[in-house]
Amino acid sequence: MINKVLMIIMDGLGDRPIKEFGNKTPLEKANTPNFNKIAEKSQCGLMSTLGKGVRPGSDTAHLEILGYDINKYYTGRGPIEVAGIGMELQEGDIAFRGNFGTVDEDWNITDRRAGRITDVTEFAEAIDGIIIDGVEFIVKPAVAHRAGVIMRGKGLSSNITDNDPHVIGEKVKVVMPKDDTEEAIFTANVINKFMKKSYDILKKLEINKKRKEGGELEANFLLMRGAGIYPKNMQKFNERYNFKKSACIAGGGLYKGIGAFLGMDIINVAGATALPNTNVDNKIDAAIELLNDKNYDFVFLHIKPTDSLAEDGNYLGKKEFIEKVDKSIQKLETLDDDVLIIITSDHSTACELKAHSADPVPIMFCGEGILNDNVKEFGERNFGSGGLGFIEGNDVMRLILNIMGRLPLIGA
Ligand code: ZN
Repeated sequence: MINKVLMIIMDGLGDRPIKEFGNKTPLEKANTPNFNKIAEKSQCGLMSTLGKGVRPGSDTAHLEILGYDINKYYTGRGPIEVAGIGMELQEGDIAFRGNFGTVDEDWNITDRRAGRITDVTEFAEAIDGIIIDGVEFIVKPAVAHRAGVIMRGKGLSSNITDNDPHVIGEKVKVVMPKDDTEEAIFTANVINKFMKKSYDILKKLEINKKRKEGGELEANFLLMRGAGIYPKNMQKFNERYNFKKSACIAGGGLYKGIGAFLGMDIINVAGATALPNTNVDNKIDAAIELLNDKNYDFVFLHIKPTDSLAEDGNYLGKKEFIEKVDKSIQKLETLDDDVLIIITSDHSTACELKAHSADPVPIMFCGEGILNDNVKEFGERNFGSGGLGFIEGNDVMRLILNIMGRLPLIGA
């Protein structure tokens, strides 16, 4: 009987036929004896995470796979990003991704990253806690020029535009409401006041004067984008699905953010870089230890480079990286028998397009009680004839709960 779950998501794994590979995909071309062994024991299928013909972002695709309806839980990337840097969100908070940048006196952008500044702690502290019209701005430093920003107060809306024009030389944008509700108008108005106030504080900072004297760009403006509201009645992952302890193992900040947003424990693993040099062995070891020895009953393990290599059009690199992961997952044989293994992806990233595509991704369920099918090799084409058929992202958690015997009965 299944009591625990390991979900491995290889980002952007699915792909299209590559001429140089004799029209095989990077996954089909890769030598994957260990994945194939798991496929043979699995129920296999294909998945369109957000539905057929919908091109998923990584954030939205992950939320759907983990059972969170993006129409209810996703208004922008801000809340995921700020959760990822350890900021606690409350119902009704508006969260943003922030950059400390440089503007001239007319607020034209000189540099969006303040000369690739490496630490913005002092700048974030200087404008953290500002209150405007009863709304508090909480600003915390993240990696390099980045920051997390939360607006906390009554009657706020995330339906507003960014102030970041994304283009050097252009003027910082006035934040506008995207609808005519009182909340959106109020929120935009408060942010515009905050921009003025925080600029006045930042430009006078001693550290900025020193930077200027030393020929460095000042970090005198907080660019904000990706506004999202922390949803009402947000149920954390463990509570929603009745897991005791869940964990997220990821190298990339966005994926740690998704884990943190859903209340999972974030496990930092040595050498997990989200780059092709990432230490997949260490990540697999960490997952096995959590599941076998540390009483975790759900582990989400994210592997990024399959996506980034395909975004570079590097099909050979993608194939080789898949082979690297294949070697590491051999160790999954040491998992206890009560662990369900799911291996899949959030979306396809086609080397041909160097971008995410709406092509479905392979997905397999392996463990006790699983009715395996005739599919014996891990690949996009093969999985089309698997026993799982064609599913969507939001089917995954229900299928897991079914295997675990946790689904409520509909009817008598
Ligand atoms: Zn992705």
